[in-house]
Amino acid sequence: MSDPHVSGPHVVIAGGGLAAVRTAQALRDLGHRGRVTLVSEESAEPYDRPPLSKEYLLGTRGADDLRLAAPDEYARQDIELVLGRAAVGLDPRTRTLTLADGGEIGYDRLVVATGARPRRLPSLPESRRVHYLRTAADSRRLAGALTGGARVAVIGAGFIGLEVACAARLRGCRVTVVEAAAQPMAPIIGAGPADWLRRRHAERGLEFRCGTTVGRSEERPDAQVLFLDDGTVVEADVVVVGVGVVRDTAWLAGAGLETHHGLVCDGSGRTSAADVFGAGDVVCRHAAGRCRPAGHWTAASDGAAQVAAALLGVPPPDLGEDGFFWSDQADLRLQFAGEAPPTATATVVSGDFDSGRFVVHYTEGDLLTGVFAVNAPRDFLRGRLALRSASRQART
Ligand SMILES: Cc1cc2nc3c(=O)[nH]c(=O)nc-3n(C[C@H](O)[C@H](O)[C@H](O)COP(=O)(O)OP(=O)(O)OC[C@H]3O[C@@H](n4cnc5c(N)ncnc54)[C@H](O)[C@@H]3O)c2cc1C
Repeated sequence: MSDPHVSGPHVVIAGGGLAAVRTAQALRDLGHRGRVTLVSEESAEPYDRPPLSKEYLLGTRGADDLRLAAPDEYARQDIELVLGRAAVGLDPRTRTLTLADGGEIGYDRLVVATGARPRRLPSLPESRRVHYLRTAADSRRLAGALTGGARVAVIGAGFIGLEVACAARLRGCRVTVVEAAAQPMAPIIGAGPADWLRRRHAERGLEFRCGTTVGRSEERPDAQVLFLDDGTVVEADVVVVGVGVVRDTAWLAGAGLETHHGLVCDGSGRTSAADVFGAGDVVCRHAAGRCRPAGHWTAASDGAAQVAAALLGVPPPDLGEDGFFWSDQADLRLQFAGEAPPTATATVVSGDFDSGRFVVHYTEGDLLTGVFAVNAPRDFLRGRLALRSASRQART
């Protein structure tokens, strides 16, 4: 409820990650003077996740370097942090958020920024050798297991799986990567670049089992044994599962909000309920008959800026939504924007595969649909700008 001593609505943000913090900061930057309360189930101050599979996992960055805001910023910006308390229910009619400990928080506007959780693999029961990676605690636990000589199985060759595989290799582990697709990251970057990526990682010692998955698994005293669908077996001391995420909207059941692969939002983050918005990984955007689930850092940060503008009724920032992400895999900086549908033609437009430094453009007819670069940030930027104008032209 509005406090008569402050001007503007009380904005409550459920979630304590990038999207939550960026929404709070953007509200203040845009001059919002009403209360801002951030409610997170994690008891740690909000931190950034990309380093969890990179520098933090390798021990080259510490916990202080993960902070999303300086320790005094929340107080300076008058952002109330309610930590260690999960939201478990929402009543949009009374504008009340219910917390796991039975507490309630009233709001004038609510932003749901509760992110996503790693998808579990049903064929792999929880065990001390099995790891998922989403939180700083997950990363610390995994770091402790990645000791020299350990046999590591990474299930899923998406960007997080490959980053972990490279980190494990750098730690001197023996690494096997199991991937359901024909090549690592093939559904995202297409067959040609994916084949190059597999060969490049194989050269650094990663062993790939592609086109298969874990059919069943047994925990034995000396190993977790993975029986793959192709009839082969992998024995591992450490198993890391990176097979995508689930947007947890179960706690919103009963609130009457439209959900699909996530919380359904329009381009400015509005949900189907008045005064409730969504930002970050929890969201799936529905536009032009398509569902686009969010899932990357830049989209979470940009989405938060858009939500803050919509909350305050000011014009939205002009941000191209192009699904951009980066991934650091040992000595490779991968950058991708747009889409690489199976029907698209992939052409190397600068550099070449042999040098390990190149840019690929994906086209359908004359239309540029996506850009992928390895160790070529400047040329990637040019491609990304071309992609933006192409999608602007396609819309008009
Ligand atoms: C290991 C890892 C590496 C990554 N690397 C990259 C990368 O290299 N490049 C890239 O583009 N993207 C990367 N990402 C993705 C990027 O970090 C995410 O897109 C981003 O963190 C999304 O922010 P978010 O705030 O929406 O969600 P999250 O960061 O998941 O934050 C959600 C927060 O809400 C809290 N929460 C959940 N449920 C509740 C509840 N019911 N009540 C209260 N609080 C709740 C959670 O505990 C969490 O603190 C990576 C992600 C991970 C996990």
